[in-house]
Amino acid sequence: MVMNAIRVIGDPVLRIKATEITEITENLDLLTKEMLATMYSAPGIGLAAPQIGIQKRLFVYDWGTGPGVLINPEIKESDGEWVFEEGCLSIPGLSWELVRPKQIYIVGIDLDGNEVSIEADELEARLFQHEMDHLDGVLLVDHLDADQRREANKTLMGIGDDTGSPLPIVGENLGFTKSE
Ligand code: ZN
Repeated sequence: MVMNAIRVIGDPVLRIKATEITEITENLDLLTKEMLATMYSAPGIGLAAPQIGIQKRLFVYDWGTGPGVLINPEIKESDGEWVFEEGCLSIPGLSWELVRPKQIYIVGIDLDGNEVSIEADELEARLFQHEMDHLDGVLLVDHLDADQRREANKTLMGIGDDTGSPLPIVGENLGFTKSE
């Protein structure tokens, strides 16, 4: 099975809104298998297509109940609040406590082209919300509050590239959308 390199923060592909999938093809089946293999080996519980550089609205997941895929997913309803320490395979080694809706109702399409709807709670709901963000070019860091953002900038600035110099990505490519 082909493993795909997971794109990390600073890669512009993570900031592009992915496009709808208009046709369920065999290629999509293969892509899903590759994404699951990449996710399991990371290891992670979710992986969205943009994280391997593919601008399509699809993500795979397995939060402990077996592998799943959602194509062209849409969150229809959300409710409540839930705090969870959230990480991202595209922001390796870092995680932040975030509040997001506790429950969601999400719809999408499976690999047979059938409509799927899931009422998700807590971890499953969090996972889906996180992966949905990736399809819209949104990253975990966009949800941080001012204090968390300051810490994140410090930490990300301290991560050197192969040459040992700081990554030239802090600021613009972190893409913080909220003003302080
Ligand atoms: Zn992520």
